[in-house]
Amino acid sequence: MAQKPKRTKSGRAWMHEHVTDPYVKKAQMDGYRSRAAYKLLEIDARDRLLKPGMTVVDLGAAPGSWCQVAARKMKGQGRMLAIDLLPVAAMPGVESLEGDFTEPAALNWLTERLQSGRVDLVLSDMAPNMSGVGLRDQARHYELCDLALDFAVQWLKPDGDFLVKVFQGVGFEVFRRSMQAAFVQVAIRKPDASRDRSAEVYLLGRRLRNADDPAVTSADEGV
Ligand code: SAM
Repeated sequence: MAQKPKRTKSGRAWMHEHVTDPYVKKAQMDGYRSRAAYKLLEIDARDRLLKPGMTVVDLGAAPGSWCQVAARKMKGQGRMLAIDLLPVAAMPGVESLEGDFTEPAALNWLTERLQSGRVDLVLSDMAPNMSGVGLRDQARHYELCDLALDFAVQWLKPDGDFLVKVFQGVGFEVFRRSMQAAFVQVAIRKPDASRDRSAEVYLLGRRLRNADDPAVTSADEGV
């Protein structure tokens, strides 16, 4: 008879947190694929990012709860392109690719679909699989953030927005400065659904800078 795999202490703690987490229960009741839905819902309630008719690109989209939130807010009008290493189960209004955003094939897939059209909102909730080596994980994460920022700068409409998950610590300030160089406004968001003990926060860049915009100053920090 197959033996049940033994749970480690940290595995048991994770399971306990998962089954008692109010956002996990709420997600099940509201029909969202994961608790991450409430992070985007909370940010959107404050910043009004999602509207019908938009073109949205969702990077690191699986299992798809941000797509669900965006699709509901867009009310069937608009377009959503989603990419993840893992499959995103089909949902109306969402075209998805199971692929690696760091590979040229993913960019080609997006470029083919966007043609010359621009994007209103780029979302990146990407996080690499953690190796447990803090500095290496942090570096890999910021590589993904840099690529997502490059994509956003290249494809957003001038008044488009970019929401990206980052982890505070090494690399954070450098990346925040890159965001400030690219966007007129950069705000930090820590939704309630983001666990307190997690270094995770979201950076929201609004309105791409152009040559007429004033240079970055310290007043641009932490809007
Ligand atoms: N926002 C999602 C939702 O609401 O369902 C949750 C995203 S989850 C926190 C992070 C995702 O990033 C994982 O599904 C992971 O597979 C994806 N990811 C990590 N590296 C990636 C890469 N190089 N290309 C595409 N997706 C990636």
